[in-house]
Amino acid sequence: MASSPTLPTTMRTSVLLKQQELTIEDRPVPTARAGEVLVEVAAVGVCGSDVHYYREGRIGDFIVDAPLVLGHELSGTIVGVGVDVDPARIGERVAVEPQRPCRLCRECRAGRYNLCSKMEFYATPPIDGAFCGYVTIQTEFAHAIPDSVSFEAAALLEPLSVAIASIRKAQIVPGSSILIAGAGPIGIITAQTARAFGASEIIVSDLIAAKRQRALKFGATRVIDPVAEDPATLGLDVNAFIDASGSARAVDSGIRSVRPAGTVVLVGLGNPEMILPVSHIQNLEITVTGIFRYVDTWPTAIHLVASGQVDLDSLVTGKFDLEHVAEALDSDRNDDSLKSIVYPN
Ligand SMILES: [Zn+2]
Ligand SMILES: [Zn+2]
Repeated sequence: MASSPTLPTTMRTSVLLKQQELTIEDRPVPTARAGEVLVEVAAVGVCGSDVHYYREGRIGDFIVDAPLVLGHELSGTIVGVGVDVDPARIGERVAVEPQRPCRLCRECRAGRYNLCSKMEFYATPPIDGAFCGYVTIQTEFAHAIPDSVSFEAAALLEPLSVAIASIRKAQIVPGSSILIAGAGPIGIITAQTARAFGASEIIVSDLIAAKRQRALKFGATRVIDPVAEDPATLGLDVNAFIDASGSARAVDSGIRSVRPAGTVVLVGLGNPEMILPVSHIQNLEITVTGIFRYVDTWPTAIHLVASGQVDLDSLVTGKFDLEHVAEALDSDRNDDSLKSIVYPN
């Protein structure tokens, strides 16, 4: 491996030992193998999935049964490269796409590498994430960012990628109308992305008044309190509905808010099983689908942020060092909190 001369041999690492129990360990700095780069981690966003692993020790079939390093939304600087990677990349500021597909299976060959059955995804058992000093990633998944994009925004290109994948699935084009349920980080970033893709009507529903107010600052053209008025009774007749809430009730009324031949994209993690209004879906020929992560979204994400169409820096409401990862993971208990960033170095 070629590397910058100042590289240490060990790095501090925040390790989830089991549910609700974090510790800090000194671990060896990894080595970039062929095709990989070594990234000194600058900023890591805290994601809802990290919080689920920390609090519940699992997400569906993914179970934390061995120590795990959390964190998969990250940026940093390349400090080392594998044998066959251009050493000129050392020193580049990058956003990391935190996944290692096999590249050989049927889904990878079809270009759907997010559906690779051999996927190694950061901070998903048993693959370690980025609450640590250094990580390795394939060189093509370390995306160079312009100087105008901060390390914090570069880390948040990961949730922006979720939003881009959702908006693509929802087939949003200039003039489209969309309903988004949930004004958490994904809902807010999705509203901004819908605006960037040309949606003319962006309706956001959330139970919490402060979150509805925030949605209006980030692209929503109208907000709805779903307790005061059920979106399904308002005749919204939108082209697409994206659920970023995980609530069965929101999903049901969202499906009933879509026009004939419209699209529903289920993004929120909540109930793994729900009752759906099947005859309504049949009679209106509504397409109901989900997304699983993303494919080839970073170039679009970098453009949206660098051109000022999506603002990620303003979403950051908390900053933590490696000793305070537990506080970072618990910051979502405060309604004013949106995105927390951990600085491992
Ligand atoms: Zn995430
Ligand atoms: Zn594969």
